[in-house]
Amino acid sequence: MKTDTIAAIATAMTNSGIGIVRMSGDEAFEIVQKIYKGKKEKYFQEEKGYTIHYGYIVYDEETIDEVLVMIMRGPHSFTGEDTVEINCHGGVYVMKRILETVIKYGARPAEPGEFTKRAFLNGRMDLSQAEAVIDVIHSKNEYALKSSVSQLKGTVHQKIKKIREEILYHTAFIETALDDPEHISVDGYGGELKVVVDKLLEELKALLISSDNGRIIKEGIKTVIVGKPNAGKSSLLNVLVGEDRAIVTDIEGTTRDVLEESIQLQGISLNIMDTAGIRNTDDIVEKIGVDKAKEHANEADLIIYVVDASRNLDENDMEIIRMIHDKKAVILLNKSDLATVVSKDMLKSYIEKPMIEISAKEESGIKELEETLKDMFFHGDISFNDEVYITNIRHKAAIQDAYDSLEKVNMSIENNMPEDFYSIDLLDAYESLGSITGETIGEDLVNEIFSKFCMGK
Ligand code: GDP
Repeated sequence: MKTDTIAAIATAMTNSGIGIVRMSGDEAFEIVQKIYKGKKEKYFQEEKGYTIHYGYIVYDEETIDEVLVMIMRGPHSFTGEDTVEINCHGGVYVMKRILETVIKYGARPAEPGEFTKRAFLNGRMDLSQAEAVIDVIHSKNEYALKSSVSQLKGTVHQKIKKIREEILYHTAFIETALDDPEHISVDGYGGELKVVVDKLLEELKALLISSDNGRIIKEGIKTVIVGKPNAGKSSLLNVLVGEDRAIVTDIEGTTRDVLEESIQLQGISLNIMDTAGIRNTDDIVEKIGVDKAKEHANEADLIIYVVDASRNLDENDMEIIRMIHDKKAVILLNKSDLATVVSKDMLKSYIEKPMIEISAKEESGIKELEETLKDMFFHGDISFNDEVYITNIRHKAAIQDAYDSLEKVNMSIENNMPEDFYSIDLLDAYESLGSITGETIGEDLVNEIFSKFCMGK
């Protein structure tokens, strides 16, 4: 079947050095043939894949731009189809002109994500890998990038595939046994199956736990800084945001309409919530009240409690200590460059949390803070070699569904239910996991996933 040929500008819609207009489909070579003029006559149909051709794009005898045309022959291309990339000068107008020209010759404008959707539909990658493509593009820090690339390489795909194969093996066994009770006995099979299901539940649990880190890897650690007035909160923030160690970006909160400031520490993003609030009200506890602080603290993954170690603890500190008791928090004993009156031991009688002596003024102790955060959130360094991280909410929900189904299998075994009860829930788990790789997913959902992609991807 002939596929229509899609085209889009693949680079940013802003003036820049180079722009790329991309085409994919059965007529990609034919179309570029009609508008390309090189020194020598070329027949793209006969050219080797992965070659680059210098020349001009010409329409109606008018030269639109000087270009490099790259051709990739299906199925050895990203989409699996014949693909052409026209590298032109990166002006918005010139890119648009070239796009218009290829459309005049029969290409149609691609929908967002349509190139990657074709890669998925043509079996070049599974759905989890296709989703990783967009995660790579959106990666904001080192670990987000690493986990996305690992997913792109197929780590999630492999893991899910293995679990599904095991589930299918046992479902098939039950079905066959029920069909042929004379030759295959299911006596004692429940016990055997339970061992397998328990193991699978453990593996799924590990994936679910990884997804907590996964969100943090992808989106950053939601952080709130608390402390009494003049403890050094703003000074700390300034040090963290200091040019030499941080990239500061304003990002929109996704769930609510607040600004967050994103700071990169050794590959981890700290999203400091509502910095406007934190900065202006200097003291959360006093000025906006404990309730407001609690509200922030409740949403946070991490609380950084700044203690002024040069002054005695007071009722503000006590209130904060009560507030952060059951939270993930790190306590910074600031102003260690001065004569201090608050010690770690003293604080330990009130609260057990990681404590670090720092001086925001002299910028000491910050490295230790970074190491501590890594330990707290990732139990040391993150390795992407042997561990699979689930960073996608859709995947997490599917794994949770599969987990629930497998628990039902165990319940049926415990209650000595007939064997076909096992296979119903096993199949449910199989289906849920298949939605991650895209094997058991409807067209609507596929369309929805790809519609969130950027244009030209
Ligand atoms: P905030 O009210 O908690 O935001 O505190 P600020 O960051 O505004 O700091 C209050 C005062 O403490 C300022 O005068 C800072 O210069 C000073 N300060 C902050 N950190 C340190 C520190 O580590 N050592 C010393 N000696 N002074 C500090």
